[in-house]
Amino acid sequence: MNTKEKTDKHIMNSYAPRLDIVLDNGKLREGVNDNGTKYIDFGSGIGTNSLGFCDGDWSAAVCAQVQSLQHTSNYYYTKPQAELAEKLCEITGMSNVFFGNSGAEANECAIKLARKYSFDKYGKDRHTIITLKNSFHGRTLCTISATGQDAFHNYFFPFVEGFVHVSADSIDEMKQAFNGTVCAVLLEFIQGEGGVVPLDEAFVRETVKLCAENDVLLIADEIQTGVGRTGKFLAAEHYGVKPDVITLAKGLGGGLPIGVCLATEKCKDVLNPGTHGSTFGGNPVSCAGGLVVTEKVTAHGFLTEVSAKSEYIKNKLSLIEEVKSVSGKGLMLGIELRTKTAGDVVKKALGHGLLVLTAKEKVRLLPPLNITYEEIDKGLKILQDVLK
Ligand SMILES: *Cc1c(COP(=O)(O)O)cnc(C)c1O
Repeated sequence: MNTKEKTDKHIMNSYAPRLDIVLDNGKLREGVNDNGTKYIDFGSGIGTNSLGFCDGDWSAAVCAQVQSLQHTSNYYYTKPQAELAEKLCEITGMSNVFFGNSGAEANECAIKLARKYSFDKYGKDRHTIITLKNSFHGRTLCTISATGQDAFHNYFFPFVEGFVHVSADSIDEMKQAFNGTVCAVLLEFIQGEGGVVPLDEAFVRETVKLCAENDVLLIADEIQTGVGRTGKFLAAEHYGVKPDVITLAKGLGGGLPIGVCLATEKCKDVLNPGTHGSTFGGNPVSCAGGLVVTEKVTAHGFLTEVSAKSEYIKNKLSLIEEVKSVSGKGLMLGIELRTKTAGDVVKKALGHGLLVLTAKEKVRLLPPLNITYEEIDKGLKILQDVLK
């Protein structure tokens, strides 16, 4: 049996249908299949390979770490954890972090933290978490309960209680949901899986105000938007907001599994001994990768370039007849099409040597943050041909 046959026989069919390609290796913004065919990468995994495939500094740091200490437990101290935690706090102005291994785990931590913050201060029954319709927060039972899309709320009953979903950008619904049982609001500033939809600024401002007035924690799910993806280290910066809790994952490890929940001063001591943990959380190899990513992304001029490339791509896309609109910020872009279906475009693009993603009915671009203008031109040329 070949790779495809083995996969289809032995791996549960939860991702079906996979695209018809076996990726074998990659070099920066170019992936290579098992026949040696090359593909320009406009997807970065799903926004995970922020520095592309196997960036030299990133691979060197990861290999060095894997050859010196690949893992231990959180009974002990390790340097990569300490360094990455310090760096993340420095960049974001947050006080401390909890390390897990994925986005969903980072959100689980944030949800537990918010409920305990409220329990410690106000006692039981102040546990409701407000999230937004069309959001995406993960695939565990708790995070699908948090996810505000009905399509996720089937089969797996009973779900985790205590989540209410309000319409994104509806200040009225948000106000009404503040009923005295609320301990947190969890939101994405730009809904990623929901179709690359940025929240309205006035809605964010009002929500932040309501949270502050009611001592309700604002949790920003920056799993997709964080770590430079939108042209700022955090999407919160576009809104001038400092959340109480922030979750990061996808792009942080440069392609290695890591998730992190960051807490501000007032809730940094909520998760005390025994209340949370993870065997692999803060794995030294993932942290070593994460450190290279955060250092590169915050180096002088890097994020300005991300924004400049974003404008460049948006301008070029706007000249394509089939493109109805482009949403998103930085290198997180959603393309609304006039007549074609996003899924078909993705398949066709693959046939022409370009990896792209969908988000709902849009074509989604999440290229590596260090993509060059030459590679952008090459990829956009393919996209343009496919959209003809
Ligand atoms: C991908 C994603 C998650 C879930 O991350 P996993 O690593 O797949 O668990 C949660 N929230 C947002 C906004 C995401 O984009």
